[in-house]
Amino acid sequence: MKTIYVDNAATTAMSDKAVEALTPYLKGVYGNPSSLHTVGQVAKEALEDARARFAKCINAEAKEIYFTSGGSEADNQCIRSAALNGLKKGKKHIISTAFEHHAVLHTLKKLEKEGFEVTYLDVHADGLVTAEQVAEAIRPDTALVTIMYANNEIGTIQPIREIGEVCKTAGVVFHTDAVQAAGHIPVDVKADNIDMLSVSAHKFHGPKGVGAIYCRKGILLNTFIEGGAQERGRRAGTENIGGVVSMTVALEEAVKNMAGNAVKLKKMRDRLIDGLLKIPHSRLNGDRKMRLPANVNMCFEGIEGEGLLLLLDAKGICASSGSACTSGSLDPSHVLLAIGLPHEVAHGSLRISLSEDNTDEDVDAILKAVPEVVGYLRNMSPVWEELEKGERKHLI
Ligand SMILES: *Cc1c(COP(=O)(O)O)cnc(C)c1O
Repeated sequence: MKTIYVDNAATTAMSDKAVEALTPYLKGVYGNPSSLHTVGQVAKEALEDARARFAKCINAEAKEIYFTSGGSEADNQCIRSAALNGLKKGKKHIISTAFEHHAVLHTLKKLEKEGFEVTYLDVHADGLVTAEQVAEAIRPDTALVTIMYANNEIGTIQPIREIGEVCKTAGVVFHTDAVQAAGHIPVDVKADNIDMLSVSAHKFHGPKGVGAIYCRKGILLNTFIEGGAQERGRRAGTENIGGVVSMTVALEEAVKNMAGNAVKLKKMRDRLIDGLLKIPHSRLNGDRKMRLPANVNMCFEGIEGEGLLLLLDAKGICASSGSACTSGSLDPSHVLLAIGLPHEVAHGSLRISLSEDNTDEDVDAILKAVPEVVGYLRNMSPVWEELEKGERKHLI
């Protein structure tokens, strides 16, 4: 049985180019960039070459890039840093949304315990927040606005440029978790008015355990991992050079192929959405237009997402009910609740996140399997029986 992997928002397979770029660093190029000898300097050159090339992909400058162990670390460091530097000026207020990734939400929860006040903007039913909402929430003591570029569950793309403009005008630091955006849709830190941004390699066919921070010149970035002077003193620890080089190659490749991939992905995505909406009492989650090219997120009434996933897996289809971090817990997705779905509906969710490696045949197979599995689960569902008998009201 062929495996159809459509969980690319959780992680992606490395591209051939990314693997090829990594390989020399597993054996041949092993130097420590902090060493003054030739072996070390070869590694140092590779690292700095990658930094310059990585920066170019998001229209930043090399000295504005700091490499990290991934998206979670980048989010933690940016948010904590902006909060603590705000506090020095007496600013204790942060603005975010209710549907951020847990790397952001859990950092904010901790900061609340430490005395910060966080405003979580309501996310509209279409999965979007507006720049006006941000403008209205900004106070004289606002230290930071952190709003994700694109949502990892429902794929909605926020009006980042407008939000950045509002923050710039108000003189508030603006951070965005761009983990789902980088390599998938154009990201330009200058045009988008972004002060701080988080990226993770494994979401665009790079290796796991490596990511980056963009921190605009003039914005302070505090050190949280103490030790050596790596990353210009902002992040101690011998650099993951192979990972960084491989990530850079993956990002360059993703940016180069972005427009072509988007056309292919949107075609597959839209065929999936239209096909799956034919299932009665189903809905698409998240705005249809302001949406990542590879994201499909649906709810089917009367079923549990977990059951759906397991039965699809038995048919060789690897999808998700939401974020990889919440699966395994019985709570419905915080993202689906944030856009106003009732618990009963949010439980029956399915996220399909494509990559350019998927094919039209994969789409055909999914369009055949999902209605079968949804029908099978509904036949066994006491909730569905009540819905059918009219003892319970349909919510979709
Ligand atoms: C995956 C993801 C992260 C975490 O990145 P890691 O590199 O896995 O730590 C953060 N934010 C978003 C939106 C993500 O999708």
